[in-house]
Amino acid sequence: MKDLKQFSDEINKCVLCGTCRGVCPTFGVINREPASARGKAALCGAYLNKEIELSDVFIKQMNECVQCMACKTACPNDVNVPDIILSARAEIAKEKGLPFVKSFILGNILDSARLMPATMKFASKLQGFLFKDVPEESGLHRRFPLPLIDERRLVPPLAERFFLEVRSQKPAPAGNKHGSEARSQENSSQFTVHSSRPRIGFFAGCLINYMLPSIGEASLKVLESAGASVIVPLDQHCCGMPALGSGDIETAKSLALKNLEAFEQYELDYITTACATCSDGLKRRFKELLYDEGEDVRKRVERFSSKVRDITELLINELRITNYELRILNPKSEIRNPKSIVTYHDPCHLRRGQGIADEPRELIEMSGAKLKEMSHPCRCCGLGGSFNITNYDFSMEINRNKAEDIKNTGADIVATACPGCMIQIKDGLHQLGADTKVVHVVELLADNTNRQ
Ligand code: SF4
Ligand code: SF4
Repeated sequence: MKDLKQFSDEINKCVLCGTCRGVCPTFGVINREPASARGKAALCGAYLNKEIELSDVFIKQMNECVQCMACKTACPNDVNVPDIILSARAEIAKEKGLPFVKSFILGNILDSARLMPATMKFASKLQGFLFKDVPEESGLHRRFPLPLIDERRLVPPLAERFFLEVRSQKPAPAGNKHGSEARSQENSSQFTVHSSRPRIGFFAGCLINYMLPSIGEASLKVLESAGASVIVPLDQHCCGMPALGSGDIETAKSLALKNLEAFEQYELDYITTACATCSDGLKRRFKELLYDEGEDVRKRVERFSSKVRDITELLINELRITNYELRILNPKSEIRNPKSIVTYHDPCHLRRGQGIADEPRELIEMSGAKLKEMSHPCRCCGLGGSFNITNYDFSMEINRNKAEDIKNTGADIVATACPGCMIQIKDGLHQLGADTKVVHVVELLADNTNRQ
């Protein structure tokens, strides 16, 4: 992982043309130079030249970025401002430390195989006391003031049974990596591993595991119908992107290594996930994080990352799923509802992080729905990892354009390929008073759209 000093030449490549200002969502809200991509790069340059210090104002400015990568894509000089900002956050964490609560959550809970599920289980038991259910809005509202949870926020409930509790599998005994993996829990019969089929390792990610297991279920269903044998490795952890985004590089590295170990125990052709942030992390960031960990680790992470495909690209480009397979999956809904109009939101980590835009659209059309594009499908939803928690009003201000754009299409459903975007978009639509359903693309394929 490059540190801030190593970006010095890149910062100097900025010719101050201002192209990035026009696409930066934080500049769009604040309209002041330090909120723009160009302004943030200049601030980092000033810090490296010892003209300014790591003041509270500097820290606030570095945190006001949703990592949407729109500036990087637009920049004529290839200045990678999002990565410059990430390295500035790492510098801040190294020099000043992270706030105690954040550091405890990232380093002690997120990084622990036992504490993370136990904490989430405890929270799921407590949620009925802290939150009230709003069934018509498919979400929860807080009952009384809680830190970091705005009273307007629609919170997705934690699942009673986590996806990995139900679906994860123990590795096969040594010497038999091919076909004898057994599901750890009661659903072992539904998805059988066939050695002649492509073997896919499914990475759940925290949001699917703890909050939206229906997306995981839909993913397994669709992958199986496309001819794959799916394995959900035991001992998988958070992808570490929340730690990376907060500047906690050590935790992000530790999680990357643990995930590497978890998936290496199985012989896999591909590794996939239905979370665009996770697929971007597993494919691109793991290599950067573990680059300096020696030749052996470098080779292992290269092998791991070369197998990673977002589920949308895996289904179209590798498994080549067909309409026929989808009809078998849902025999009664050959054309599910020809009157359903679906619009699609491009997650930043899928479109700009991985260059994937056509595949999810192709899948939506294969589902039988009619795709209607919004005006700016790749405009950021404003989530930005923990930005949405620490800067809720700012984040929802960015989200308002997205929610209005969706509403203006008149679509019944908005589909996307990232559970984080789904939660954020749902909150934004709810605050706008729109009743558009929010689903994952794989849920359209598996016909899970009635879960809301
Ligand atoms: S688009 Fe690139 S070169 Fe132009 S101001 Fe932004 S960072 Fe600088
Ligand atoms: S990544 Fe997005 S929010 Fe951050 S500076 Fe670039 S355009 Fe602005």
